[in-house]
Order: sequence, then C-alpha cells, then structure tokens
Amino acid sequence: MPSDPILNEAETALRRVFGHEGFRGRQAEIIAHVLRGGSGLVLMPTGGGKSLCYQVPALCLDGLTVVVSPLIALMEDQVAALRQQGVVAAALHSELDEEGRRNIRRDMASERLRLLYVSPERLVMDGTLEALSNQPLAMFAVDEAHCVSQWGHHFRPEYRALTCLAERFPRTPRLALTATADARTVDDIRAQLSLDDAPVFRGGFDRPNILIRAAPREAERKQLLSFIRRAGDGTGAGIIYCATRRKTEDTAEWLRTQGMDAMHYHAGMEAADKRAAHHRFARGDAVVMAATIAFGMGIDRPDVRWVAHTDLPRSAESWYQEIGRAGRDGLPAQALLLFGAGDIALARHRIGESPATDEQKFIEMKRLDAMVAVAESATCRRRALLRCFGEDLEADCGHCDVCQNPPKLFDGTVAAQKLISAVLRTGQRFGLGHIIDVLRGKMTDKVAQFEHDKLPTFGVGKDLPEAAWRGVARQLVSKGALDVLVENHNELVPTEAARAILKGQEQVMLRAEVMERTTPAPRGAAATPAPGSDDPLFAALREWRREQARAQGLPAYVIFQDKTLAEIAFRRPMSMESLADVPGVGASKLEKYGPAVLAVLRENSG
Ligand code: ADP
Ligand code: ZN
Repeated sequence: MPSDPILNEAETALRRVFGHEGFRGRQAEIIAHVLRGGSGLVLMPTGGGKSLCYQVPALCLDGLTVVVSPLIALMEDQVAALRQQGVVAAALHSELDEEGRRNIRRDMASERLRLLYVSPERLVMDGTLEALSNQPLAMFAVDEAHCVSQWGHHFRPEYRALTCLAERFPRTPRLALTATADARTVDDIRAQLSLDDAPVFRGGFDRPNILIRAAPREAERKQLLSFIRRAGDGTGAGIIYCATRRKTEDTAEWLRTQGMDAMHYHAGMEAADKRAAHHRFARGDAVVMAATIAFGMGIDRPDVRWVAHTDLPRSAESWYQEIGRAGRDGLPAQALLLFGAGDIALARHRIGESPATDEQKFIEMKRLDAMVAVAESATCRRRALLRCFGEDLEADCGHCDVCQNPPKLFDGTVAAQKLISAVLRTGQRFGLGHIIDVLRGKMTDKVAQFEHDKLPTFGVGKDLPEAAWRGVARQLVSKGALDVLVENHNELVPTEAARAILKGQEQVMLRAEVMERTTPAPRGAAATPAPGSDDPLFAALREWRREQARAQGLPAYVIFQDKTLAEIAFRRPMSMESLADVPGVGASKLEKYGPAVLAVLRENSG
C-alpha cells in the first residue's frame, strides 16, 4: 500500500532522526491525522510507541509542540533522549531554576525549540499560557491523559486545568495519549479535553513479546526465585509488584540475601529517596525493584526483562499496564502473576467495605471478576486478557502458560461437593486448614476437640493430597461458590452458588494441575536470551555505552538501546554508512558516536 503522501516528510524524519525503518501499528494513521490539523485520542499499550505519534509531527509541523507530562523524571529522560537525537527539546517544571527558565524562553522566542515538555501545573501558571499565545504552536500532546479522569486510579487534580486548552487554543490540535482503555476513563478524557468529536485511535493491545503466565501462590519465594532465574538475562531489570509497602521492603531485603541488587519503592518513602530509586532504576543497571503500584509512570526503561506480581491486581487493566513495562524494546520478556484464594476474597471485601457508591462498587467488582477470570483461565490466557480490552485474537497466542501447557480439565463436582459439605457440617466456623484435616481424616487436637471425627465427611477426601484440596477451594472461591471471611479468621462460608453444586445441578470442571503438588514450570518457557547477551562484542559495546552514559550523566538506553547494540554486534558494520543502516542509529547519533562505536568494533574483532 503506497503511504499517504502527507507522510513523506514524516517517514524521512523517522529514519533520519529516530533511525527506525517504518511506522508501527497505527502510528502512520495517527501522524497523518495530526499533520492535517486533527485532534484525537490515542489508546495504545505501554511500549506501543505513543511518543513518536507527537514527536514526529513536532519535527514536521511549523511551531512549537507542547507535551504535557505528569512526572519530572519522565520529562527529563524524554528530553535527554531527544537531544541525543539532535532535536531541540526542553522541560519546564517546578524544579527548574531561573536560568533554565530563561534559556527556555529564549529558545522559544527564537523559534528554535521544537518540543517543550511541561507539567500541567506549570502550563497553566505564571504566564506560560500567555507566552504560548504569542508563539506559533504546532500541537498539544497530553501524555498519560488518564490522569485527567477521576474515574481511574491515577487522578491528578492538576490535569483538570487542561480543560482550558480547547478554549484558549481552539485551532491547535490536541492529541491525548494513554495506555488505559477503560470505557469510562476514555469518556472522561474526551469530555475533559473537548475531544468528543475527535477520533479515537485504538492501537493493537497485544504485546506478543511478553510471555505471560499466572500460577497459584504456593511457595512464593521459591516461585519468584525460579522465575527470576529463568526470566532475567543478567543485564536488564525486573520489577516485583507487591500489595503492601511492608512487603516491598521485605522482598527487597530477601532478594539482597540472594545476591541480587534489589531496591524497594512505595508511596510512603521520602521524595528524595523515591527520586533516587527512580534514578537508579533508569540508569540501566541490572536491578530488581520491589514496589507497590506507586512505581509506575515514568518507567521509560526499555530493557525491563520481567515483571512479577506477588498478589492479585485489582483489575486486568492494572495488570496489563504493569506487565507492559516489560520488554518495551521488543525483545523477549516475561510476566508472572502469583495469586491465592485469599487475595480474591480480600479484594472482594475491600470493595464491599469501601466508601464508594454502589454503582462504583459494582463496577470495581466486575473489574475484579474479569481479573480473576484471566488468572484462572483454562484457555489461552492472552486471549482472555485482550478480551478485557475489547480485542479478540484470531488464534490462541502460543506464548502464554496455558497455550504452552494446556491444563487438563476434570470433573471436580464430587470433590467440590465434599468440600462444601465439610464446610457446612463443621458449622461454617473454620478456615481451610481444618476443613482439609477433616476431609483427609487427620486426627488433630482440634478435630478431637470439636468431635469432627464423628462427622460423615471425616476422611472422605483421603484420595486427594492437601495441595489438591487447596486448589479445589481456590477455584471454588474464584467461581464465587465459597467466600472467605478475611476479617474473621478466614472462615469459609458457602454462598448461594454453592447450593446448585451441592444439589448436583451444576458440574464443576477443575483444572487437573490441582492434583499435582506444585505447578510445573511451563514447558518450552525458558527465556530466549536477548540476542548477543553472551557475545563479548555486545559486552564490549555495553561497556563503552556505560562509560558514555556515566560521562554525560544519562541513562544508558538514551545513548543506544540494547536492541541497537545487539544488532551492531551482530552485523559488525565496518563503515559509517553500514552503521547508519542499523535500526536505532539516526543521523545525530551516527555523527556523535559512530567513530567510537567503529573503534570498539575494530578493537574487539578477531
Ligand atoms: P509508549 O510511550 O507507548 O509506552 P514508546 O513511545 O516509549 O512507547 O515506545 C516504546 C519503544 O518502541 C521505544 O523503545 C521506541 O523506540 C520503540 N518504537 C516506537 N515506534 C517504533 C517504530 N516505528 N519502529 C521501531 N521502534 C519503535
Ligand atoms: Zn496463549
């Protein structure tokens, strides 16, 4: 298909400045729309390539492109990356000193500046709007646009002020960008930014390079460790999301005893400590970050090799956004979700007891159910996940735990009936441990004390090991047939849905792996190492890049991404011309680093 002629200049910029061969997904369509003066909303997953949707037009259009961004660290990294590519860009935020501000004003006045990143509060403050009014403008890009919505989990009151953009600059295109595709958030963004009549560009949400899997939490640390060993490549980073602040600290401490370079991050830390943690993470070491979901926006690092969750996320949206931080460079990455029946019950109770309106609770509950369905999915997990985003894969993905190791289903109706009946006969006053003892006919003190050995259900479940019973219980909880009273010693209580099962009116299909002691590692799931990760030339290039990054005080990937270095190591170009052909090597980087890279290649050849 011949491309839209309006894109000619854009394609040249893409190649020359960014060193990419072509547009991806809907980038071309979005950019053509913007170049024609259109506004719009871009929904793409993290790592989907949103930035180019405004960076390329910024280079083609006359006037200044203003990018609203919520986080200083994020702005600074993007600006550093653009400057490396020879683009005049700057960031305007509260931490800039007077001189810095003066420089920006000067560059604006001389119309040299192509992109101005600005925090929302700065944008609507002391004369910024006035200054912009007196200046030719190309467009406004509102990054992380879901921050404007009170509905989502990331509401930023400052974003509300952005409603004024449409009034003050009616002729300037506005492009809002987000990875959140939730229908209400989308409606909110369109309303707040006056984009009701503008198109919504929904990019493909699939991130095929991320191998996804979920498993019941059985021996958390053991599971984590084997996952990290499999998924890590020794150079990239990893993130472990934990449900509580305390757990992030404990997990990081434990990982350090395992010889890993681990840090923690949560919202309760001092601002300076948070910044330091962000900074270290961005600098490109092989670190592991144990964090709450407060660690999120502003992780631009492309070589996060894996993301693990030790607890069930509250929605599939959150999970996908969090695991989307892995493998933004397109190289193989992995995600692991560990969850237990207690998580599901706890999350349900939290929603029930929250001060939210009934309508909101209902929706939160639906979101949670969708997450549980993904976690418990017995068919392609990626399909189940993408369905939450309104996308249906044409075929099973072949790159998730379920595809690689399809669970065998068996009729677990009888097992379910036994378990529910044991719960009822013991008076709905006990936790799972005791129920399993009763089922397996174990004569404990508690069994003797309550004379549960006299019950007809005593010992009827000897045929299944304890782990299998835990699996049955977890699946019943996730089906909503059993409730766990978290606030009250985790007592199990059957719900209305249990009645049909007990009466034999409903068949319960259980996943056969509950019969096994632990979930086996998925077959064929060994991490494909990043290309060249054991190649001495790649190592030498990384070493050179580390020096460069240190000398310039920049994150390493801003100089060259791993993917680019691996490609260079693979192709071993001998001249500036052939180096220029390597994807990721734009004109400015070629000029700046080409000779040094060729020197590294010469020193390490043969
Ligand atoms: P997002 O902002 O959507 O999370 P980014 O804009 O940071 O994603 O892009 C993610 C990664 O994809 C970056 O490493 C970027 O260099 C790369 N990328 C984006 N567009 C292209 C393209 N057309 N060709 C090659 N790489 C691309
Ligand atoms: Zn699959």
